[in-house]
Amino acid sequence: MDKEVAPRVLEYDHADRYPHELVEQMKALGLFGATISQQYGGLGLPAATYARIVMHISSVWMSITGIFNSHLILAHAIERFGTEAQKHAWLPRLASGEVRGGLALTEPDAGTDLQGIRMTARRDGDSYVINGTKTWISNGIEGSCFALLVKTDPLAEPRHRGMSLFVAPKHAGFTVGKKLEKLGYKSIDSAELIFEDYRLPASHLIGESEGQGFYQATGGLELGRINVAARGVGIAEGALRYATQYAQTRKTFGKPICEHQAIQLKLAEMATRARAARLLTLDAASAFDRGERCDLEAGMAKYFASEAALENATESMRIHGAYGYSKEYHIERLYRDAPLTCIGEGTNEMQRIIIARQWIKQHPIA
Ligand SMILES: Cc1cc2nc3c(=O)[nH]c(=O)nc-3n(C[C@H](O)[C@H](O)[C@H](O)COP(=O)(O)OP(=O)(O)OC[C@H]3O[C@@H](n4cnc5c(N)ncnc54)[C@H](O)[C@@H]3O)c2cc1C
Repeated sequence: MDKEVAPRVLEYDHADRYPHELVEQMKALGLFGATISQQYGGLGLPAATYARIVMHISSVWMSITGIFNSHLILAHAIERFGTEAQKHAWLPRLASGEVRGGLALTEPDAGTDLQGIRMTARRDGDSYVINGTKTWISNGIEGSCFALLVKTDPLAEPRHRGMSLFVAPKHAGFTVGKKLEKLGYKSIDSAELIFEDYRLPASHLIGESEGQGFYQATGGLELGRINVAARGVGIAEGALRYATQYAQTRKTFGKPICEHQAIQLKLAEMATRARAARLLTLDAASAFDRGERCDLEAGMAKYFASEAALENATESMRIHGAYGYSKEYHIERLYRDAPLTCIGEGTNEMQRIIIARQWIKQHPIA
């Protein structure tokens, strides 16, 4: 990270250029197979190790974690819910990075309310014909294969019973609408994906059974939330690192600003937040690795770490004074990147609702 990434971040970020050269290095490191089992060619890392990798990378440049984060959620859905044939067909190629992709859930009219999606898949003999539009899909341009959430029975009640998840590679009928311009999280492509009479063999339906899609898509969200929490930790720690260095070199009124009490209070709060975010995230990842249901822990980690990222980025910018506002320093970029962690993999409003529901369930009146 220090040698290959840090010196190039500002150049890539300001040009919003996709880091093709880094992707080749990431392939060689095995990052595209980080959490895929070794039997399918992955590294088989536990979530706790994987979270530490994401934290470290994000403390330098969060965007590049997006290139393999949702890719690994696609792989996770196949490995956890797919048939043996699907695992053998897809996982080795995903692990090597030969096939790269992501997760296509969100639509123009449905984000948080996933059951409100409109994309349909109609059975036609041995295949399905898919129509609809997805939006905000990470890796939508550079990726070639996505976990695609659709309605196989648009009239089903409750709505989730009519939802199914497909492995959807790019071919005729699947086009990229447009690249979406963003505040931050530059260099990774977010795109609109358009499906017009896109035909998939029935063997691409994950688990080869209809009606499981909502469960399969949200089943990957625990790992997804640990991912986003780890990104938040990285930003919170990165912002703290820059602030710590700057506060010891910048002098006002004859002494380094870290000797002014107002700056010390900020540093103390930032350091505490970053540490708490790290511990919550590793706690959630350990629960995940033990095979426990961990939506409470993952929700707490995601909520706390993303808010810590936002607060630390803001405080670090204040400590940097005018230089924090300059494009020549990294802090301005962390400030633009941090808000995404409060939105992705379930907004923080929803996280708190999930935390409260689970909390009440676990603490019924005696
Ligand atoms: C950079 C970026 C990358 C993304 N990558 C992907 C991707 O790879 N794949 C993918 O499928 N999606 C992706 N998304 C989409 C993301 O998952 C959604 O934006 C997110 O789920 C929120 O949905 P929405 O934007 O439609 O907001 P809405 O659902 O419209 O919510 C709007 C506001 O209302 C609040 N709200 C909604 N419902 C409730 C409720 N019941 N109670 C309280 N508050 C509520 C929300 O918290 C939010 O504040 C990405 C988004 C961004 C910005």
